[in-house]
Amino acid sequence: MSEVRTTCPYCGVGCGLVAQRGPEGLALRGDAAHPANAGRLCGKGQALGDTLGLQERLLYPTLHGERVGWEAALDAVAAGLRDTAARHGPDAVGFYVSGQLLTEDYYVANKLMKGFIGSANIDTNSRLCMAAAVAGQTRAFGEDVVPVSYRDVEQAELVLIVGSNLAWCHPVVHQRLLQARAERGGGPEVWVIDPRRTATVEEADGHLALRPDSDAVLFNGLLVYLHAHGHLDARYIAAHTRDFEHALAAAREEAPDVAAVAAATGLGTDQVIDFYRRFARTRRTVTLYSQGINQSARGADRVNAIINCHLATGRLGRAGAGPFSITGQPNAMGGREVGGLATQLAGHRDFSPAARAEVQRLWRAPRVAERPGLKAVDLFEAVADGRVRALWIMGTNPLVSMPDTARVRRALRACPLVVVSEVSRRSEALRYAHVALPALAWGEKDGTVTNSERCISRQRAFLPAPGEARPDWWALARVGQRLGYHDAFPYTRPAQIFREHARLSGAPGRLFDIRPFARLSDADYEQLAPTRWPLSTGGAPFAQGQFPTADGRARFVPVATDAPARLPLHSTEVVLNTGRTRDHWHTLTRTALCARLSAHQLEPRMSVHPDDAARGRLAEGDLARLCGPAGSVVARVAVADAVPPGTVFLPMHWSAPWGNVGAVNAAVAAVVDPVSGQPALKHARVRLERVAARWHGFALATEPLVFPDGVYWAASRLRAGYRYELAGTAAEGAWEAFAQALVAPHTDQRWLSYRDAQGERWVCLERGRVRLVLCVDARWDVLPARAWLAQQLGAPVAPEAALRLLGAAAGDARWQGALVCACAGVHAGAIAQALQAGACDLAALAARTGAGGACGTCRGELVRLLRSHARAEEGAAALDAAAVAPV
Ligand code: SF4
Repeated sequence: MSEVRTTCPYCGVGCGLVAQRGPEGLALRGDAAHPANAGRLCGKGQALGDTLGLQERLLYPTLHGERVGWEAALDAVAAGLRDTAARHGPDAVGFYVSGQLLTEDYYVANKLMKGFIGSANIDTNSRLCMAAAVAGQTRAFGEDVVPVSYRDVEQAELVLIVGSNLAWCHPVVHQRLLQARAERGGGPEVWVIDPRRTATVEEADGHLALRPDSDAVLFNGLLVYLHAHGHLDARYIAAHTRDFEHALAAAREEAPDVAAVAAATGLGTDQVIDFYRRFARTRRTVTLYSQGINQSARGADRVNAIINCHLATGRLGRAGAGPFSITGQPNAMGGREVGGLATQLAGHRDFSPAARAEVQRLWRAPRVAERPGLKAVDLFEAVADGRVRALWIMGTNPLVSMPDTARVRRALRACPLVVVSEVSRRSEALRYAHVALPALAWGEKDGTVTNSERCISRQRAFLPAPGEARPDWWALARVGQRLGYHDAFPYTRPAQIFREHARLSGAPGRLFDIRPFARLSDADYEQLAPTRWPLSTGGAPFAQGQFPTADGRARFVPVATDAPARLPLHSTEVVLNTGRTRDHWHTLTRTALCARLSAHQLEPRMSVHPDDAARGRLAEGDLARLCGPAGSVVARVAVADAVPPGTVFLPMHWSAPWGNVGAVNAAVAAVVDPVSGQPALKHARVRLERVAARWHGFALATEPLVFPDGVYWAASRLRAGYRYELAGTAAEGAWEAFAQALVAPHTDQRWLSYRDAQGERWVCLERGRVRLVLCVDARWDVLPARAWLAQQLGAPVAPEAALRLLGAAAGDARWQGALVCACAGVHAGAIAQALQAGACDLAALAARTGAGGACGTCRGELVRLLRSHARAEEGAAALDAAAVAPV
């Protein structure tokens, strides 16, 4: 029985896990000793064991699509980079890396690019999620430092959650917050500031559903209010900050009074005043924010509008207070530490002559990039127009995650050399790769990551390297050696790289200082316990009011906003807001392997407000298209008043391998924040159009299916195969031919069909087992329940029983509804039954169904179901009362 301590590969919470190998196989559990989670895991973390299969893995290097050995592949990469730099200059080379990389991978990529190729054209997909926070923190504090820890969230009296669906995106921090509130009997108070009514709102104490992109006005107005009502910390401002008057003047321009704030945000004046008073009287306030703030055309300014309010009241550097940018990816923070963004040098340095000289000396590099490189959107633009002619993509799929994906596709198609280091052979980027390099995945790779609260943890291997997969740092170092830099890239194990990385930290005046780790032995590195920096202050920055600026003072940043989403919309236009679903992660390369995680949302659902649905003649289950300036995406409509009028929400995860609907970012123009270069992925103006589907349907199959052109399909995993949600705009007519074309003929194959007023169903039995089920109808809402049919897939069925199965599907199959609790496998149908039977709170629901009793991520949905049931009951009672009232 052996145990390996590691960290979760998903979100920036950075939960610790223990992998235990025993006679029963591999078991994973939360690490009770890890400070981030103390044993908790969310549904995604709990299901990690289901995602470790090798069926989707890229296992061998290829060159122009042909399998080759590593030597040939790396020779080709090195020759391509050398020739490109020699002919067109070092800036013709680009690296596009990922917050999924380990710090050691990131470090070697950054060193190779900035020190030895000699360009800073290395950027990371972290640019897409937190570059605005980096820019905002650097402007205010002098360094990219998150001043808050998870403990502060628990110790606060008021937690403002701004532009973050914390319950789904950082579930364990959300659970820690709710537990602290429960244990302390009423505190901390939790307020959500978000245009959407998310799952986080369901368990909050208050919700400010402000207009999209109006957060900066709200916080500018807060600064004005705090000043006008004497709630500033004048001593703190005088002793520890600069430029307050400039920030106040800018805030007054835009938000002179509460009425102006109410007009701009769409909130009531009483709501605004109540919020301002609440902030003013609560000294221990944490303002936690993420993509809703960052992914905006003025993301950095919005970050600074928040930070300004904390600086003006001294609400940071003390327990339970501070602005908290919570990161999306597991190692976005580690990437920032090594200088993985095009705008940084290693160890939180900038491109000043002194910093460049220091890095060059420590690296013994022939040169160091002279200026910041191209940020992500600019990098792909440079690829498209031929300025960048060799691009190495590592651990990310820009064809899904970047805005204006058509342009990214054109860029990759035109690029003379595309190298892709990948784990999944399904990544679309591989279609454009001249060289494909198989990377190690989570469980196989070994190194460190830094989570949202600056805690460095080990990610350790507990599985053998499959096929010919190798660590990314290894491939990078071998290329560095081939370029002639043997001494600079001598690495044989990650501990060497980590020590070197630690040696580069502690630049003059920087808080990021982990130099004691430069003395770790290999054995120490192996045993390294989770450690929060700065090491010198026990992990609490700014406690003395000292900031890493030239004069030790923080800076107020004047903030003015005129974000495009606030402009008037045409009648068919809406603002597209993109984000995550509860149980999926990024581009589905891992979570889509797990049937349990795939059951929560089976296809991308476009949330449309009832007013917009009525205007666009859209009903629940219809298909709709969102058209941006350069592309479009199709998805199934979910009519929901959780989104405000004039906006739609669509998850970011789906793309070609899991459907033909297109990536949502196809419809998002490449508009970026001018300060940080972060794309405005949450505020795209798009046209909303109804897609006139002639039929709807679904297929369940034991093997993957291929559909004819023109059929909408979105796939998800089942335990025994695949499920496809379908629709078509053309009348198919011959369903028999349609169905039979989906599976290869077999000698022992039998087809059964059933037709009634509601539609057609076809079952294919192969060797006595259910191979395929196809159900189609003119209407989406009358299709049979899927879950019961899915259970028959792959099971032996006598032909007569199959006929009954076909006939019974619509009427007898018990409606299960969507999966609500992934941990206990509880569907909406079971919840509805429990509510009908009298369950009236979370505890009663948990007792009757088991839902919500484990990781807690579904509790927001349970609260929503409880509330809507209570409303329905009240409505029925009111109707009854009206019926018996005397006329
Ligand atoms: Fe993993 Fe984040 Fe869930 Fe923790 S909260 S288990 S880090 S996905």
